[in-house]
Amino acid sequence: MTNVLLVDDRPENLLALEAILEPLEQNLLYADSGEEALRQLLHHDVAVILLDVQMPVLDGFETARLIKQRERTKHIPIIFVTAISKEEEHVFRGYSAGAVDYVFKPFSPEVLRSKVAVFIELHEKTETLRLQAEQLKEQELSELRRESEERYRFLAEAQPDQIWTAMPNGELDYVNQRVLDYFDTSFSERVAAGWTDLTHPDDLPRTLRLWREALDTGNPYDNELRLRRAEDDSYRWHLTRAVPMRTRRGEIVKWFGSNTDIDDRKSAEEAQRFLVEAGATLGGSLDYRTTLAALAKMAVPRIADWARVDIVEDGKLRTLAVEHVNERKVELALELSRRYPEDPDAAQGPPLVLRTGESELIAEISEERLSELAVDDLHLGLVRELGFQSYMGVPLVVRGRRWGVISFVAAESGRRYGPADLALAEELARRASTAIENAQLYREAEERAQAARVLETVADGVFLVDSEGIVRVWNRAAEAITKLTRAAMLGRRADEVLPGWQDLAPRVPVAGAPGPATATTFPLELDGNERWLSISGVGFDEGTVYAFRDLTEERALEQIRQDLVSTVSHELRTPLAAIYGSALTLAREDLELEEPMHRKLLEVIVEESTRLADIVNDLLLASQLDAGRLELQVEPCDAHALAASVLEAARTHLPEGTRVSLDSAEEDVPRVAADEGQLRQVLTNLVDNAVKYSPSGGNVHVRLEAVGKYVRFTIADEGLGIPPAEQGRIFEKFYRLDPDMTGGIGGTGLGLYISRELVRRVHGRIWVEPNGGRGSLFHVEIPAASESAEAENRRKKAKASA
Ligand code: ADP
Repeated sequence: MTNVLLVDDRPENLLALEAILEPLEQNLLYADSGEEALRQLLHHDVAVILLDVQMPVLDGFETARLIKQRERTKHIPIIFVTAISKEEEHVFRGYSAGAVDYVFKPFSPEVLRSKVAVFIELHEKTETLRLQAEQLKEQELSELRRESEERYRFLAEAQPDQIWTAMPNGELDYVNQRVLDYFDTSFSERVAAGWTDLTHPDDLPRTLRLWREALDTGNPYDNELRLRRAEDDSYRWHLTRAVPMRTRRGEIVKWFGSNTDIDDRKSAEEAQRFLVEAGATLGGSLDYRTTLAALAKMAVPRIADWARVDIVEDGKLRTLAVEHVNERKVELALELSRRYPEDPDAAQGPPLVLRTGESELIAEISEERLSELAVDDLHLGLVRELGFQSYMGVPLVVRGRRWGVISFVAAESGRRYGPADLALAEELARRASTAIENAQLYREAEERAQAARVLETVADGVFLVDSEGIVRVWNRAAEAITKLTRAAMLGRRADEVLPGWQDLAPRVPVAGAPGPATATTFPLELDGNERWLSISGVGFDEGTVYAFRDLTEERALEQIRQDLVSTVSHELRTPLAAIYGSALTLAREDLELEEPMHRKLLEVIVEESTRLADIVNDLLLASQLDAGRLELQVEPCDAHALAASVLEAARTHLPEGTRVSLDSAEEDVPRVAADEGQLRQVLTNLVDNAVKYSPSGGNVHVRLEAVGKYVRFTIADEGLGIPPAEQGRIFEKFYRLDPDMTGGIGGTGLGLYISRELVRRVHGRIWVEPNGGRGSLFHVEIPAASESAEAENRRKKAKASA
């Protein structure tokens, strides 16, 4: 039904209009004013308006103008109904206000009715057309929508990723084919179940929480989780994202989501990170056991649920380290390798890896395979308990030698090893090998450096001659002994730089292995001096190492020892013979000895015994001096009195034709700082020598004088004298100018040695020079006693006498 609006301020007019239009059977609306008409138009769709012109407040023209102003109503046809305004002007005003017709009262009901009918029909036609147009539009729109949906689905299907959509409540309502393939599931099953049953249990709580949050807040959803792939039943990391689609008013109508398999990328990243860390840890130790134990520790749980390192010892694999995610199972794993050592000929596992030197990958260890390989029920039980699922074995090769095998086993985690895992395991083994290699090289270098340091500090000369005869090592001791520098020796042929080496080398004993080799001793002419060297060698792959030491000093000492024995025995034998002879004569009963003879023999015994005692005393004194055991008591002594008493003693047994004298006044010489007894011994030795080595007699003259801070004693004789070349040597121990005593003067060669040592001890000097053309001058200088020492001494003496 169509609405027709009748507007008149007079109810009777409205009634009349109603009666006229009744037969049209349309819905008639009434308004008694312009305002009411406008109000009605707000609420109703009207086909035509019959409008009275003469109305109070808002007249017909004004009302029409307002209707025409409104967009929604401006096309509604208006028929003015009027009784008065028939003038041209009024009619024009009506049309310009938007009227389509004028009806003047009194009007014919038929005409009015048919006019209204025309407008109603027009309205209905227009309405039909509008509806039709709307329907058409709706149809087109839905077509478009379908097309866009299809296009989107098509896009979704073409994606390599898993694409899905969910309803605002989060329930899945679409998944692409990729999802169905990846999880081996049907559309209806997946839409009904969602993702829950495919998500790794460890990731599920987080995932559900994040999804709930997204649904509640309308924020995009972003999550990393493991989803179980159908192909190998393995959980793989996925990146899942979803964004909401909203209406113009902001309501969420759908969630668009995608899952991307990032497992390879993630494990590659992780592997890279792992290898970097591994490199640092493995390089941290110089002990390969520590290195390999660290490797096993690192591998669990990142690449394996348990890891084992076996190394070759005595040709057999021995387990060095075991790591397990579950600590309790470490014992179990050790038990397994203890009870069931690997059969070296096994067709799989570590023995195979060791034999071939190649890695082994068993992606899936089936139950049947396990039972097949089990040695007995206990073995099977242990293996089952450990839960082998997947296995990788990689060889450990160090400096080209197969060192052992590293085994990785997946159990609890349910992971399956693939080529990428094997590559990682191999890389890990390579890094471990490098670490062990470096540690070995480092240790070798260190040992070599240490050996070199030791070589530099040993006292023996050590040198190495390589198989080409070139000197390769020449240590510091070798330099010191031979005075041949390293620069002169290294890289040169031994027979060119080592004098006499050509003849010597074949005679040097060379042992095959390090150990005691008998050395040979031989003289080597070095720098014009003859040195006695003891040398032996040890041969090895690259040449021969020779060690030598300088025995020149030892030989000299040996010589001295021999000299001592011959001198001393000779010296002792002479007095002994005299004593023995005298004693024998005295003891004879058949011989009646005259009184003078008797006395003479007894004198001989006394004299020769004294001489024997002197010799023994000298020997004793010399050895005390050598050992540094001689005590020394330095105090101021009266040099003059000492010299006088020594000469006094000498006079008691002067040979005929020899005279001794002392020159210097008592007050001329200061006191000396010396051990009185020892200084007396020195002076006695010198005076005795002067007398002894003047066989033809002569004057022995002793002089004292102050020289600077010293007191000089000079003992002059006119005897045999000493050749200038020998003047230094006579002070050496056992040195005698006439060792064989051809001149008939005996002695031990100790007197001057002892004298020199005693003089040195009080910081004095002793030397000899020729006495003009005949005899010798022996000089001894002893420091004069200082004032303070003198005072100190006087104080001591005063105290002692008090
Ligand atoms: P000894 O007299 O027991 O042989 P010494 O050490 O006292 O030992 O002297 C060493 C050597 O020095 C003597 O053997 C002797 O050849 C020489 N000698 C020492 N004093 C004199 C001297 N006054 N005149 C010549 N030769 C001396």
